[in-house]
Amino acid sequence: MNQTRNIQLINEFPLLESLIDLKPLSWFNPKVTSYAEALPYVGLTALDVQEASKRLLRFAPFFCQAFPETQQSNGIIESPLQTIPAMQAALSDYYQTSLPGRMMIKLDSQLPISGSIKARGGIYEVLQHAEKLAISAGLLSLDDDYSKINSAQFRAFFSQYKIAVGSTGNLGLSIGIIGASLGFQVSVHMSADARQWKKDRLRSHGVNVIEYESDYSIAVEHGREEALQDPFCHFVDDENSTSLFLGYAVAGERLKQQFIEQDIIVDAEHPLFVYLPCGVGGGPGGVAFGLKLAFGDHVHCIFAEPTHSPCMLLGVYTGLHDQISVQDLGIDNITAADGLAVGRASGFIGKAMERMLDGYITLTDADMYQLLGLVHDTEQLKLEPSALAGMPGIMHVVTNSDYLERMQLSDSLANATHLVWATGGGMVPEAEMTAYLQQAKH
Ligand SMILES: *Cc1c(COP(=O)(O)O)cnc(C)c1O
Repeated sequence: MNQTRNIQLINEFPLLESLIDLKPLSWFNPKVTSYAEALPYVGLTALDVQEASKRLLRFAPFFCQAFPETQQSNGIIESPLQTIPAMQAALSDYYQTSLPGRMMIKLDSQLPISGSIKARGGIYEVLQHAEKLAISAGLLSLDDDYSKINSAQFRAFFSQYKIAVGSTGNLGLSIGIIGASLGFQVSVHMSADARQWKKDRLRSHGVNVIEYESDYSIAVEHGREEALQDPFCHFVDDENSTSLFLGYAVAGERLKQQFIEQDIIVDAEHPLFVYLPCGVGGGPGGVAFGLKLAFGDHVHCIFAEPTHSPCMLLGVYTGLHDQISVQDLGIDNITAADGLAVGRASGFIGKAMERMLDGYITLTDADMYQLLGLVHDTEQLKLEPSALAGMPGIMHVVTNSDYLERMQLSDSLANATHLVWATGGGMVPEAEMTAYLQQAKH
């Protein structure tokens, strides 16, 4: 910790004081711009996302065979979207404030294969890598029926190659399950906070799990090193990967289709607010990009982080991006929210996406547990703590008149849709879920 720099920073950025005091808060970025102005900074386009979408379609026949639970969606890995009126009423009581508009939830906790948002980006990157290898080897062409990949021949081919990744749990789970099913040798470098059941699950798939006593950044560093030393090893770089980003971004067009099917309008008079739990930033960043491509200026994205790990808020608010960590300010980066225990944000995501993101909120672990209990009791949904991070977002938005007026949103609040992105929980064992619900009663 550099005391002099911190004092200067706090003088320049007064909100840091509350951040250091671990107070739940919100910050709405005054420098947010229109979608059109922000787009050039991303460095990726609608075309890139379309390509990702087509790649996932090519693999659909493979998924139908290798993961029969995807047959009902024709091999497409997608999650349900639903309204949560009972939770909305309970939340209004919880915060003692009226919450106009329609509250909905996007249940990435129910994504097939790995039960979290990582089933979007993580799986996509492995598919892209596998496709490239198989095409270069002359085993596959773009117009083949990809169900042929689910075979001993392909598994033998992929078993010459390795994939390495650093993870707090869920990314490792996604990469490990899909990688092992294709035949790759997978190493997952797990940070200290990763749950035992996730390590056990991966080992049962034949994945090499390497455990560290330190946090996420160190686990990632070791994964990167392993891959650098081995030309046959592909490193999934959670901090910088455009492939992960594009896999997440496909969610935008999928959501747009789901809104059409459910007769829900998103336009200038019917704004959409989306609350995305943020760890290193790739998941929420990629999804937010996809949402902007799908809905333009009518969607307002807000990132949500634990009070103990507010790395993206810190990086964007100070403009220092990955040049500062929460630990630099004496914040410990210890939270029960798997996937969100990240002290240093991705510089790529912060710089690419900051102009497209309306704001950032933080919440305590205690709040996550309370909300986990509330959504279980009111909507019978089973989520892991991190999946609740976006839940307070609606309260922060509807009570912030400065933000609403600046964005000219005050008059359309009654017509707004507020979507909480519930990023995980589908694979949590029964006993763990019971323990979470016990926590909620405290
Ligand atoms: C990974 C993860 C996130 C956040 O994704 P990042 O890409 O790390 O920002 C949110 N929720 C859950 C459950 C996750 O596993």
